[in-house]
Amino acid sequence: MNKSYELLCQEAVMHGPLESLFCCIGDPVIGNPTQLMMEATFRSMLFPARYLTCTVTSANVERAIDGIKALGFSGANVTAPHKVAVIPFLDGLTESARLSGAVNCIIKQEGKYIGDNTDGKGFLTSIELIRPVAGMHVLVIGAGGAARAIITELALHGASTITIANRTVEKAQDIIDRVGPHVKTTFTKEAFTGTYTIGAQYDLVVQATSVGLFDPDKGFDLVWEPKEKGSRIAADVVFNPVHTQFLASAEKAGATTVDGLGMLVFQGAIAVTHWTGKEANCESMRKAMEEAFTI
Ligand code: NDP
Repeated sequence: MNKSYELLCQEAVMHGPLESLFCCIGDPVIGNPTQLMMEATFRSMLFPARYLTCTVTSANVERAIDGIKALGFSGANVTAPHKVAVIPFLDGLTESARLSGAVNCIIKQEGKYIGDNTDGKGFLTSIELIRPVAGMHVLVIGAGGAARAIITELALHGASTITIANRTVEKAQDIIDRVGPHVKTTFTKEAFTGTYTIGAQYDLVVQATSVGLFDPDKGFDLVWEPKEKGSRIAADVVFNPVHTQFLASAEKAGATTVDGLGMLVFQGAIAVTHWTGKEANCESMRKAMEEAFTI
């Protein structure tokens, strides 16, 4: 019979190897439910580990990374506003982190602390459950950190064209300059004022701004050009609320919709696999998140 999670943790303390340590660093982090999702999967995997949620101010980022190294943490998540600031203090970066210029996951490999970006990969997984992104024509609304990670991964996986529509159009150009030279994707940029007609040419439309976060009624004034029902995917990065105004308008237009919870769970699951070498239990992670949002 399998030993219980509690017994495995007790044995780890008494006889070793000690439990693995993980944390999430950011500011603010109160309200960030990652710890609950990670603890749920560690428990269901019977993987003895502790996961902490830590407030780290911008002045303390270097010391926090030194602390993670000194205490022998096995990995960490990094959230706003430190996804870029941590980079100089790490021992290396994966291709996704290098191209997107942001780190949301730190992996300990042979004693070195490597920065990865699993946000874009988590998003990619949530879309590819429906259909591969290779060859797709994509519209991304937004050019912040989440958009950067998503665009990088879509381009690395063969999206044919990506149009970036953002309020601050220079930020769209920054992404094109950073990612464009390394991929075959054709990029265009547009100014986004909040009122926008979504062309029928797009196979995938991504809402990657923070608009709608914590406000189910907030969204944009979008007109969807007609397209065959189910032939267009519309995805929102906002995960709280799960059903956003953007997704409601996309549903009305006949799109297949993907909520932000999928991206959140899959980016976490990819991190867990990096850290443990084992498959994470996505079902338990999604359930923990859904429960967290009702607290
Ligand atoms: P950033 O602050 O880096 O970017 C915010 C983006 O939203 C920018 O493009 C900004 O435009 C745009 N924006 C903000 N307000 C408005 C507005 N009123 N009108 C038009 N555009 C606006 O944030 P992140 O990219 O880090 O996060 C964006 C969202 O993604 C958040 O809601 C976050 O919770 C979510 N997220 C979800 C994840 C998941 O796993 N599901 C993972 C990571 C993030 P401009 O450039 O002009 O300021």
